[in-house]
Amino acid sequence: MTHTHLDHIGCLAEISKQIPWAELWVHHLEADLLEQGDERAVYGMDMFRGLCQSQFGLKPGAFKFQVNQKLQGGETLDLGGTVWEVIHIPGHSMGSIGLYHRTMKILIPGDVVYADYAIGRFDLYGAKASQLKESLMRLGELEVDILLPGHNRIVKGLPKGYILKTARQWESYLT
Ligand SMILES: [Zn+2]
Ligand SMILES: [Zn+2]
Repeated sequence: MTHTHLDHIGCLAEISKQIPWAELWVHHLEADLLEQGDERAVYGMDMFRGLCQSQFGLKPGAFKFQVNQKLQGGETLDLGGTVWEVIHIPGHSMGSIGLYHRTMKILIPGDVVYADYAIGRFDLYGAKASQLKESLMRLGELEVDILLPGHNRIVKGLPKGYILKTARQWESYLT
């Protein structure tokens, strides 16, 4: 998981029921919360917790999971014959990770950066604007041809310097 917000891990219970051998890999900063059943990083803020619980019939404690692998960032994952580098990119959430395929220049940035010069929100639990800026700068160093963000749309043929340009547009808000 790129991070543990509800809109990304909401179906984990269903997935592990259907695919019991599937493993859950999460950055350790959010893995510990998941294992403790601490749902602050899942809902992000109290208002969303109440809203989502009543709207989707979710019970408190619905998001307590054992994590099979706690990531640090810096790992290289061999997934189905493709190799992905794990990059810790906090700011949108404390344990956000990006997955980068260096030879194919594919980046999966979770909710850190999207198409259309949009970035992830930085007002939720565990978020930090200055860290988000650093993470964007870090991603900006990568050569990316295909961006596969957590929302809006996929971008093929990402313009050179796109992520740095995005970071610069948001810079004054990311202090
Ligand atoms: Zn998110
Ligand atoms: Zn999201």
